[in-house]
Parts: sequence; structure tokens; C-alpha cells
Amino acid sequence: MSLLMILGPVELSPGVRAASAEPPLGHTAPALIASFGAALRQMRTVWGAGPEHQPFVFAGSGTLAMEVAATNLLDPGQRALVVDTGVFSDRMARILGRRGVEVERLTAAPGATIAPAEVAAALQGIDAVFATHVDTSTGVRIDVAGIAAEVRRSGALFVVDGVCSVGGEPVAQADWGADVVLTASQKALSVPPGLALLVASPRALEARRRLRVPPPLVLDLLEWLPIHQAYEEGRPSYFATPATGLVRALQAGLDELVAEGPDIAVARHRTAALAMRRAFGVLGLTLVPERPEIAAHTLSALWLPEGVDPSFPGRVAAHGVLVAGGLHPDIRARYFRVGHLGWVTSQPALLAQTVRAVGLALREVGHDCDVEGAVAAL
Ligand code: PMP
Repeated sequence: MSLLMILGPVELSPGVRAASAEPPLGHTAPALIASFGAALRQMRTVWGAGPEHQPFVFAGSGTLAMEVAATNLLDPGQRALVVDTGVFSDRMARILGRRGVEVERLTAAPGATIAPAEVAAALQGIDAVFATHVDTSTGVRIDVAGIAAEVRRSGALFVVDGVCSVGGEPVAQADWGADVVLTASQKALSVPPGLALLVASPRALEARRRLRVPPPLVLDLLEWLPIHQAYEEGRPSYFATPATGLVRALQAGLDELVAEGPDIAVARHRTAALAMRRAFGVLGLTLVPERPEIAAHTLSALWLPEGVDPSFPGRVAAHGVLVAGGLHPDIRARYFRVGHLGWVTSQPALLAQTVRAVGLALREVGHDCDVEGAVAAL
């Protein structure tokens, strides 16, 4: 089997693998209730949220969490600002458009970011701001704390797509004053795909209560609120069947993350990213993000050397490692992406295997490089 160094699904720790292999529990089984409740409490820790914040776990992917945020916070006709740093911000804008929300965008060139001051200048009349902490299509990380401070001053709601950041970059929902921070199970939390996760502020739930046009039933935070409260209080309940097997895996993954310490997990991602970049530098590769300070630690988006075509990830796969191709439509054929997120960042041998596979593939396409020098630099 190939080593997964794409942007999710990712490699699993032995503990999460074991939990994923258990047969699914009934949704009212005491063991499931205990796991669900524990996972919700652990989410608050990992998100940097307070006791007043409500975590939610949905069966679905990150895109479903985005739909939940859009349809629970805003009515048709309200105004949203999207801080657009790539493909996933664009997706958020499309979701909001379908809700009938009026969308304004601040769009960055691929590899560039949007500064808090630019956001501040665009907040007049805006009801909610949506930003992607790490846009997986470019590898750019925004200054989410700086943007949060501007949004808070304006009184608008603030939604952070943390799909490519939660567990791997500093996340501080309470300090930011963010109303929703959302992610998916298959990224830096290192759990199999299939769960959409978000934490809502009291203001987010108030916004839901004020809506004129309610969200689709299965996405409605108010339908799910008593269910999640029951799980945290250790009581059985039912609205729609949860992904019980995945909830066990989630709890196992969050257990590991909380035991390690979320700050230490973030430092581990940073160390791995800096090591990978040193190695990629030896291979002669450069980053898509314009400046090192705005390059995320969960992935490296790398320009393909002159003359190397976009089928390059296929060459790497032949060496047993899956990496991702380009995704941003403006530059798709000119770059590729290596995910270094989740458990794999604690495994130097797997990171070395990745560097070696990329280096050997580069040599095959005529780009002379020092493969073992790169591995040594890692
Ligand atoms: N937002 C970001 C930043 C992402 O990276 C992704 C997935 N790559 C999504 C949203 C959508 O998540 P999913 O594919 O799980 O629906």
C-alpha cells in the first residue's frame, strides 16, 4: 500500500487504526455515549474553546461542515465577506451563494494572503466573514488572529475553515472570538474520513435562533443541540444515526492529541514542515506561498521545476508515496502538493521515504538533484 502524503485521508496511528477496526456500536450503547461525550470535551481543548462553546460532530466531510456554517448563520439576503485565498474559500462563496447570501470577496493571487487591514476596510455592512485558515490549494496560512480582531470590532460573525489547520496549526477559538471553527476528521486529527466537526459560539447559536429561513433539517444545529448535550451528559438520544464507528476512532485520535498536548502537536507539525522544506530546498524545489511566514505547516505546495509536467505525482507514486497534484485553477499544471499532517509528522522514517520518492522521481524526469543529501538535510 502506498504511503498517504496527500491532504487527507492521512496515515493513522496504531491506536486510531485499532479503534477504526472495531465493529460499530449502537448509537445508544453506553460505550458509544461515553466516547461521543469524551470526544466533544476533547474538541473544546483542541479548538481552544471555552465551556460556553458547543462542539458538534456530523457524519459527512469538511464541505458538509461548511454547509452547516453557512445555512445556520445567515438568512438569504444577508451579506457575507469571503477572504478568498484559494479553492476552498471559493467553495465557501459558492455555498453562501446557493443560500441566497450576498457575497463579497477579497481575492488573493495564488500564493499571496489577505492582510487584516484589507479585511478591516471591507467590513461595512457585512453580517459575517468567512476565512480559510490554511487554503489547501495554495499552502497559504492567513493571519487569522489579526483578521479575527478586525472582525470582532465590527460586530460581524466570524467563521474559520480550519479543515487544513485544526490539530496542526495554532487554533484559539475563544481568544479569536470566532463563532464557528470547522474541520474534517481526515486531516491533521489523523482520523479516517467521514466526520464533519465544528465548534459553535453562543453567538452562532443565537444567529441560528434568529433565522427567518431555517437550514435543511439534517444540518440544523438546533435539531442536533439536545443530542450533543445528551451525549455529554451521558444520556442516550436520537435524531439521525451518527457514524458510530468513526466516533470511536475520533475519540481515540483526540485522546492521543490531548495526551500529547495540542501545543506540542502544533510544534511537531512546525518541526516536520521546516525539515521537509529544508529537504525540498536541497532538491531545488521552491514554495508557492510568497513568503515563508505565510506558508502553512500542514503541507508544502511546491513549484514543479522547469520542464516537469503535471503528471509528476504519478512518478512519485511509482516509488510508493502518494502526493497531490495542483488544485488552484490559475496554476494547476505548474505545482504539486505534499501533505505533512497528522500522525505521520511524528515518524521521521516516513518523512524520509517521502523526500526520497520525490527526489528519485525528479531525477527520472531529468531534474538532477542530490536525493541522499536531501534526506540527510531532513
Ligand atoms: N476546506 C479546506 C481548507 C480543505 O482543505 C478541504 C478539503 N481538502 C475542504 C474544505 C473540504 O473538505 P472535504 O473534502 O472533507 O469535504
